[in-house]
Amino acid sequence: MTAESSSRGTALLVVDVQIDFCEDGSLPVDGGAGVARRVAAYLETHADRYAAIATTRDWHIEPGRHFASAMGKDAEPDFVQSWPDHCVAGTEGVEYHPELSVAVGRYVQAEFRKGRYEAAYSAFEGTLSKDDETSLLDWLLAREIEAVDIVGIATDYCVRATALDALSAGLHTTVLTDLVAGVAEESSRAALDELDRSGVYLATSQVALSSCRTTRPAPLGAEPTAPESSGQARSGSMTIAPQGHSTMQIPHPLQ
Ligand SMILES: [Zn+2]
Repeated sequence: MTAESSSRGTALLVVDVQIDFCEDGSLPVDGGAGVARRVAAYLETHADRYAAIATTRDWHIEPGRHFASAMGKDAEPDFVQSWPDHCVAGTEGVEYHPELSVAVGRYVQAEFRKGRYEAAYSAFEGTLSKDDETSLLDWLLAREIEAVDIVGIATDYCVRATALDALSAGLHTTVLTDLVAGVAEESSRAALDELDRSGVYLATSQVALSSCRTTRPAPLGAEPTAPESSGQARSGSMTIAPQGHSTMQIPHPLQ
C-alpha cells in the first residue's frame, strides 16, 4: 500500500459477533448481545460511510488445545489460552447473533473464518473460505483500504489481536469503544490501554464520526485524527472517509 494510493478508503471490521460469545452462548461475554444490537444499528445508519465491510467468525473444527476438552474430559479451561468448546462449525453457536444477522446479509461484503485447526484470535488470521485462502489483509489491500474501524467481541482477545495486526500492517486503526465487549473488565481495560499506547485510536462511534466531519479539510500531511494516534500518521491518509462507492473518489486537499 502506498500513501498516495488513489482511493483512500476505510473498512469496517466486525469481529466475532457470534451466538457462542453472547449471553446465551457457551463462552458468553457480558454485553455481547448489546454489541450485536448496536453494531446492527450502526450498520443501518453508517454502512455507506465505508469503502468495505467485512466480518470474521471464529470457526472451529478441531482447534487442539484452544479447547480445554482436548486435554481430557475433566480438564478445566483457564480462560486465557484454553476455553470451553465454542463456535464449532455446524453448531448454532457459530452463527451470527440473531440481532446482527439481517444487517450482515444486507451490508457485509466478505466473511473471514479463522481457527479451523488452531487458536486464531486476530481477524488477519482468517481466510475467505477453506477453498479460498485470500487473507483479510490481501482483501483490504485489493480495495486500497488504508484505515480500519474495528468493532465486536472480545475486546481483550480478538478485538485486541485484530487491532494490533492492523497497526502492524500499516493501517490507520480505530476501535469504536461503544461497539465492543470484553471477557473480563480488568483485561479489557488493560487491552484498551495497550492499544492506546500502541497508536490505535480509541473513540466511541459518535466521536469518531464527528472527528471525521471536523478533520476532513485537514491539509496534506496533517494527521486528521486525535492526537493520541501519534505514530500512525501517514501522509494524506484519512480516517473514516465516506467512500461508499468505488467510483466516487473523495478528492484529497491540495491535489
Ligand atoms: Zn476460539
